[in-house]
Order: sequence, then structure tokens, then C-alpha cells
Amino acid sequence: TEMLLEDLPGVGPATAEKLKEAGFATIEAIAVASPAELGTMADIGEATAAKIIAAARQSADIGGFETGDMVFERRLHIGKIKTGCSEFDEMMGGGIESQSITEIYGEFGSGKTQVAHQLAVNVQLPEEYGGLDSSVIIIDTENTFRPDRIKQMVEGRANELGLELDADEILKNIHVARAYNSNHQILLVDSAMDLANELKDSGRPVRLLIVDSLTAHFRAEYIGRGTLADRQQKLNKHLHGLQRFANLNNAAVLVTNQVMSKPDVFFGDPTKPIGGHILGHTATFRLYIRKSKGDKRIVKLVDSPNLPEGEAVIAVTKDGVTD
Ligand code: ADP
Ligand code: MG
Repeated sequence: TEMLLEDLPGVGPATAEKLKEAGFATIEAIAVASPAELGTMADIGEATAAKIIAAARQSADIGGFETGDMVFERRLHIGKIKTGCSEFDEMMGGGIESQSITEIYGEFGSGKTQVAHQLAVNVQLPEEYGGLDSSVIIIDTENTFRPDRIKQMVEGRANELGLELDADEILKNIHVARAYNSNHQILLVDSAMDLANELKDSGRPVRLLIVDSLTAHFRAEYIGRGTLADRQQKLNKHLHGLQRFANLNNAAVLVTNQVMSKPDVFFGDPTKPIGGHILGHTATFRLYIRKSKGDKRIVKLVDSPNLPEGEAVIAVTKDGVTD
């Protein structure tokens, strides 16, 4: 049975509520917090915060160490999701990887949500067709999930691969939750974990989690330099939660991140994605997408632990992401 925040010594219902509101919704999130941070954000005083953190560390599964052979064994099972565009797949060493966070950033309208929709279709296909026989979870923060668009993409894939695909079945395997603010967004990762556990032995486990957009709520809620550090800390925790989801479920995590075309006083260098360095260090693969001629888009691999930088030209058509 899962531990509740109220099970921590010194945490009653009121404190638990404060902690949740401050974004510390799980024992794990508390375990990795600093007393000063937790004290301030949850308004509980540093000494109390330190006690709560100590108790959380004792009971939390905060990962700890894995030996090299364990990491090796885990990584043997990495899955790759084909994107629909062979150049894109090649650049990614075969497709979007499980056990990793892939960030796709670009301007409004550049095609981030299109790529996300396409992967939600592709991951459901059998492995020989570039999928992982999977279910999908989407945390939709901008209300841009469109079932009709999924249907178009299913038809596109069916024609391209010469397969019979049932669009209604595919829609049934996509679990979408709207996130109404950044705290809710963080909480939904816990719900996603529960759902993934439920589906683990269903024959259609969750191998793809999409957060579209990762940063929009954070950007809207934390305006101005004063709260930048708080925002980054919270985003960092969120990303650690996502990485944990990726590892425990052998799932790919795809997050989108909008960059500003206009210089933005609040976020420094306008060519840098929102979330800045913290995102940079946490997302394993970073992709920059931009518009090109007609339906073409250029996707650039900006950062990867084991692949060279590169660019791929993709098309976004009625059929979805294609060569
Ligand atoms: P963002 O990066 O803001 O998430 P989107 O992924 O929503 O951007 O991309 C929107 C663009 O995708 C549209 O401007 C259009 O070029 C393309 N697009 C969306 N739907 C279709 C469609 N049904 N057929 C062709 N192109 C589409
Ligand atoms: Mg979008």
C-alpha cells in the first residue's frame, strides 16, 4: 500500500494540503527537497521541514544507486518508437527511445503537437512496424489534443504500411488528462504512474508518456525574476518524476517546450528554450523544430548522450509526420 503524506511524522491533514499545494505531492518529492525550500514553499518553518524530509528519505524509494551491470541490464530493454520519417529515425539512432526524456522545442505552430500526436499513434503499432504495442498517456496542458487528428494519422499510417488499423481502438489506448495548472500537472505524473501500473500486465503497457506542453503553465505562473529559482526547482522535480516514470515503465517520455520568437525580458536569451539549463541537463535528447518551406519542418538534434548532432527534414501533412 502506498504511503500518504499524512503518514509522515508531524504531517497532519493541513500540512499535507500545504505541501501538495506547493508541489510536494509525493514522499519522493519531499525526500529530495531541501529544508529551506520546503519550509518556504509550504510555509512550515525550516526545522519542521527538516524533520519531515528526514522521515521521507527513510521511507521513500528515491532510487539510490544501481550497479553498472544493473544499468546495463535495464538498458538492454530500451525500445525505440519510429517517427514516421526515416531521416528523423536515422538521426535518432532508430527512433525515440524509452527510458529517456526527449524534449522537442520550437516556436508556436512549428509542429511539436503534431509530432506528439504522431508518436501516440506509432507507439501502438507492433514492433515490426516501428511501435511498442503500447498504450499512451498524454498530459495535455494547452487543450490541443485532437482525436480527429489522430484518426487522420491512423489512416495515413494504415495506407503507408499497408495495414488495417482501427482508429477507434487506437483512440481507446490514448489516456488524456488536462492539466489545469503546474501543481496539477505534477500530480498527474503520479496518476500516470498508477495507470501505468494498472496496465502493466494488460498486454498494452504504457510505453509513452507525453507532456504537451511541459512549460506553458510554469511560464504563465512564474512571471518575473523573483520567482525564477522556485520555478526552476519545481520544474526540475517534475522532470525527475518523469525520468522515474521512464525508468520504471521502460517508457519514452516526450515533452514539448515553446520558445519565443520575440526577445523575452523574463527569460534571457530568446533563442534558448524556456526552462533553460535545468531542462537542458534533465532531458536526454533535445530536439529543436522549426518551419521550413511548405509542409516541411527541420528537426535538429541539439543534445544527446551518444548520438552526433544532426538535422532531419520532416513533412507534416494530412497523413501526419512523413518523409
Ligand atoms: P506547436 O509546435 O505549436 O505545437 P502544432 O504541432 O500544433 O504546433 O502545429 C500546427 C501546424 O501543423 C499547422 O500550422 C499545420 O501546418 C500543421 N497541421 C496541423 N494539422 C494538420 C493537418 N490536418 N494537415 C496538415 N497539416 C496540419
Ligand atoms: Mg502545441
